[in-house]
Amino acid sequence: MPKSNGPDPNESIEDFIVRRFEENFQRLRFENGHGLAPEVKEAAKRQVLLYWRRLREVAETITDTEVRLSLPGQVTSKKRKFNIEGVVDIVREEGRTVMYDLKTHDPEYIRENLGEYEAQLNVYAHIWQNLRKQELNETAVIATRPSDALDAAWINRDRNASALEDELERWNPVIPIPFDTRHVQDTIEKFANTVDRIEDGVYIPPPPSHLSKKEIRDETFATRVCRNCDVRFSCLSFREYLKTYRPKELPKFRDIYEDAGAEQDREARIDAGLET
Ligand code: SF4
Repeated sequence: MPKSNGPDPNESIEDFIVRRFEENFQRLRFENGHGLAPEVKEAAKRQVLLYWRRLREVAETITDTEVRLSLPGQVTSKKRKFNIEGVVDIVREEGRTVMYDLKTHDPEYIRENLGEYEAQLNVYAHIWQNLRKQELNETAVIATRPSDALDAAWINRDRNASALEDELERWNPVIPIPFDTRHVQDTIEKFANTVDRIEDGVYIPPPPSHLSKKEIRDETFATRVCRNCDVRFSCLSFREYLKTYRPKELPKFRDIYEDAGAEQDREARIDAGLET
């Protein structure tokens, strides 16, 4: 008998989510040979479970999941062809259609930089309305990164369940974004310019002063973005930033050469490679 895709009869939804998370993780690891450090994997699982607890109503009303939207046949000013693609979720309820774009980003960052997200959603709305000829009443981003307080409450949930409930109540990951498809052409041109810059090998990092700029919760661009960037030690802006703003953290050449990541990351990579 074929195995059902839903939860087993005696399985709770959260156990089902954890089981499917593990299955997906193993499948992706097998397909692309990359592991995840245990704490990164735990954080990803936490985001999925918190999303379910906080947005169960939205998750249950989604009528079309992972709808792939595509705007093919675009051409840059240098005659390079490219397509724009995106994946969204759709809720159709009581005569209204809402498009959700799930992001693993910080909700506060999104609220402070709505323009960036609005431009992308406008392109998706344009594809949905004008190419697919479908109704659309609203667009929103769902930002799944939990606040630090919510993360801490989750970790301590066995000792203090009410703190977790309070933090969940405070967390507001749905960010409505007004759409206006009149500006779609500007966004497509920005994508086209980016395609040309990538193809021409023009990778200019922002100046060091930008890296030290405080963004949200006193976090700088260097902390939010560069910390996770693989080329940071060969990036002139990052090195200048360290020299000027964090001289004590400036690594020696040998440190960079021998930097293979944290021990847990190295072990996860070896395990994943061996298993694959
Ligand atoms: S370290 Fe990476 S993310 Fe940061 S400025 Fe340089 S290239 Fe950009």
